[in-house]
Amino acid sequence: MQFAEFAARASEMEAEPADLATVALVRDLFRESGEELDTVARFVQGRVFPAWDTTTLDIGPRLLREALARAAERNVTADDVEERLAEEGEIGAVAAGYDFGGQRGLAAFGSGGDGDESDDLTVREVDETLRELAAATGAGSEDRKLNTLFGLFNRANPEEAKFLARLVLGEMRIGVGEGAVRDAIAEAFLADEEEEDESEREKGGGRADCEEDGDGESEPEPEPTVRATDEHLAAVERALQVSNDYGMVAVMARELGIEGLGAVRLDVGRPVQAMLAQAGTVTDALDEWGAVAVERKFDGARVQVHVDGGTDEGGANDEDDGDDVSVSVFSRNMDDVTDALPEIAEFAAEHVEAPAILDGEVVAVDDDGSPRPFQEVLRRFRRKHDVDRMREEVELELHAFDCLHADGEDLLDAPVTERHARLVEILPEDAVSDLLVTDDEEEIAAFEADSLDAGHEGIMLKNPDSTYSPGDRGKNWLKRKPDVETVDLAVTGAEWGEGRRANHLGTFLLSARRSGGDGDGSDSEYVTIGKVATGITDEKLAELSELLEPEIASEDGQTVELNPSVVFEVGYEEIQRSPTYSSGYALRFPRFVAVRADKDAADADSLERIERLAESQ
Ligand code: AMP
Repeated sequence: MQFAEFAARASEMEAEPADLATVALVRDLFRESGEELDTVARFVQGRVFPAWDTTTLDIGPRLLREALARAAERNVTADDVEERLAEEGEIGAVAAGYDFGGQRGLAAFGSGGDGDESDDLTVREVDETLRELAAATGAGSEDRKLNTLFGLFNRANPEEAKFLARLVLGEMRIGVGEGAVRDAIAEAFLADEEEEDESEREKGGGRADCEEDGDGESEPEPEPTVRATDEHLAAVERALQVSNDYGMVAVMARELGIEGLGAVRLDVGRPVQAMLAQAGTVTDALDEWGAVAVERKFDGARVQVHVDGGTDEGGANDEDDGDDVSVSVFSRNMDDVTDALPEIAEFAAEHVEAPAILDGEVVAVDDDGSPRPFQEVLRRFRRKHDVDRMREEVELELHAFDCLHADGEDLLDAPVTERHARLVEILPEDAVSDLLVTDDEEEIAAFEADSLDAGHEGIMLKNPDSTYSPGDRGKNWLKRKPDVETVDLAVTGAEWGEGRRANHLGTFLLSARRSGGDGDGSDSEYVTIGKVATGITDEKLAELSELLEPEIASEDGQTVELNPSVVFEVGYEEIQRSPTYSSGYALRFPRFVAVRADKDAADADSLERIERLAESQ
């Protein structure tokens, strides 16, 4: 395909305000792209390399301005280009404003050609030339880049120059986002012709019908509609999430259809978009899923660890298995951070059976293994220099929480629990995040208290049956929201613990105040609203027992009644109406925060406040 043709189509897209019509333009372009489909599918998004590949052209605005100046009419300087840029606001418009044709005679020098070839740029040639630019490094590479760019612009018409300049800076500005490319791929190669014909008919017929109407009024052109089905779109989306390569997916859709896309596999060494989390509550999670997979939320930096090679087919070389293993570590944005985190790569090479793709968090730790603040990890993360010195200063640990590929098998479609079980098989225990699957709020609260105690950020809640959806901030992973409100409640009962905690009071019964006649709290009545049993360390429990024992009014087996005196500050996720407690309300997911030593029972929250909080949820 001629680059001029591509540029003309890009201009049409830029001028088209409607999304559906833009998709139709992209679809038509894709259908006509022939051999250069993969490149065209990247170029429309301003990409030379696949989305997963973080190679850059490394051409800054200054170099581009210089190249434009050299290719433009005589006497134009880089400063002139900059001035025009200030006026126009955008490099494409500036590039389109120069007449590069005047220098055609020199083009052969700039592009290194022998003068024989046709002077028209092709999409392939632009792609190859830009890739060469990206690879140029070392002494003199700036000059070579400048010369090469000069050569390209020299042969460009204004429209080509506009999009070439934008492509060099990685920004096409033609209103074609990732969603439009996805839709266009589905429409171009998956939506079948029959459906297309049908939807034309549904819209009241094509143009031939209009002419036959003969009423002189020309019908407006039918609005383009999306004809690809949800299934088509989902197939393309999925292949894109797995591969992050729009060019490859477009070609696969064309060559192999929907089944072919379904067969797009993970590739060890090629990063996948990380699955993301929404904020959510334990209450939501339990209501929605029944049981929850709970993990610690590590406060570090996300990594994806790819371990390749080292397969020991004959079983004869057990000793040097680690030697030919190659490990790549990618950041959440799919940047290659392997060199900055040598101990993570070494750990994976030593312990992980290849091939595997792991998802996890890198955490900075103290000598005793407890986590250090997240900022410490950042000091290591993208470092190019002094890696060895920093390695001494900030020790890092991998906490893997997911396994996307193991032993030749893609696990994206396996449930959380199975993926976790695979992790346990391939990694030493210390490096695998604990996973608790439960439907018990108290167990979750205890797990959370334990995580916070150990210095982690909190907990993650995952739908135990859910698959791994790359790039998705869906509802299957929730980071537990911190409590927005707390309530101060009187402790009016408790239970003696068992075993290790036999001498301690625990499971505290909490009550709100229902004020009596004069409202000063003096003749308050206390109505129960919930129990708090977790979030309390053994040490704290001993302290609380000492504080509460003098208030024991009566005992019945394990259960004690307490005179209202001590006030607890308690966090919760939701207040529900409930017949279980005398207030008519129950706290969901209540957690102990602190003793309000500054308050008496008479200062505990009133039932009116509880009612107001329940209503405002
Ligand atoms: P946030 O960065 O606040 O949106 O929280 C989501 C991030 O928490 C993820 O992208 C991970 O980097 C991190 N994280 C820590 N522990 C886990 C875990 N067990 N499962 C998933 N993500 C985790």
